[in-house]
Amino acid sequence: EAGRREGTVIQLTAKDFKGKVNPDWCPGCGDFGVLNSVQRAVAELGLRPHEILTVSGIGCSSNFPGFFNAYGMHTLHGRALAVATGAKLANHELTVIVTGGDGDGYGIGGNHFMHAARRNIDLTYIVMNNQIYGLTTGQLSPTSREGMKTKSSPFGSVELPINPLLISIMAGATFVARGFSGDGKHLVELIKQAIQHRGFAHIDVFSPCVTFNHDNTYPFFRERVKRLEDEGHDPSDWKAACEKAMVWGDTIYTGLFFRSEGRATLEEKEPVLAQGGPLAYRPLGLSQEQAQ
Ligand code: SF4
Ligand code: MG
Repeated sequence: EAGRREGTVIQLTAKDFKGKVNPDWCPGCGDFGVLNSVQRAVAELGLRPHEILTVSGIGCSSNFPGFFNAYGMHTLHGRALAVATGAKLANHELTVIVTGGDGDGYGIGGNHFMHAARRNIDLTYIVMNNQIYGLTTGQLSPTSREGMKTKSSPFGSVELPINPLLISIMAGATFVARGFSGDGKHLVELIKQAIQHRGFAHIDVFSPCVTFNHDNTYPFFRERVKRLEDEGHDPSDWKAACEKAMVWGDTIYTGLFFRSEGRATLEEKEPVLAQGGPLAYRPLGLSQEQAQ
């Protein structure tokens, strides 16, 4: 399906990135807003489906690649970043977008998260953070607040939640942002910037689970979120980014917390990794020339 025609180049629209399968998310799930925002962002950047790979782990939000028209891989629980790292090293020209949830990415895949950040591999990592395990019907996740009652914590959680933004800033991520699926226009801009950023870009997105999380709802976030862009925050200021990431109460910030430009990406640092183009993968025993 073609969008507007501009000269001889066909400009795709968000609709062109609609997958063959319709999302089976609960009506009102925040993940719809994130899916729409990614589709709009890639269309506005002029990308084509064959230039994009989406990779996910397991969870409600990790069904994302099936709902998105591009190359896609639905991998193992918590392992999306590891698979995406391999794909990006094999073909640097791919725009690799990793999608998943808080349980998948910060719990089961927490170790990969930290190491992808410190390696500064050129990926965009979008986490649909609903502060709960949705697919398994509502258990405590790494971002559930202390005292939260869930199926697995009927008397209230006794654990402190993690702060995913601080973790990625401290681990060495060069682009760290937070969005809200109820603020699509802002989220589209963050996703566009993250894709254009060279290096590991992490966007934590408040994406309410309307079925199992009755604490962190749309009204909860709507009353609290404030865009950093309206506060005069300087994303090159590492210390200010950490301070803003620690704010959690009547005000919770969204926007670009931290961006560091000029640090080499993983694939640029080693000559052998720098060769990864579309032809870098070849059958064993064939030279690059033979494979061509
Ligand atoms: Fe979304 Fe929650 Fe339903 Fe999963 S269970 S689809 S996270 S609303
Ligand atoms: Mg979750």
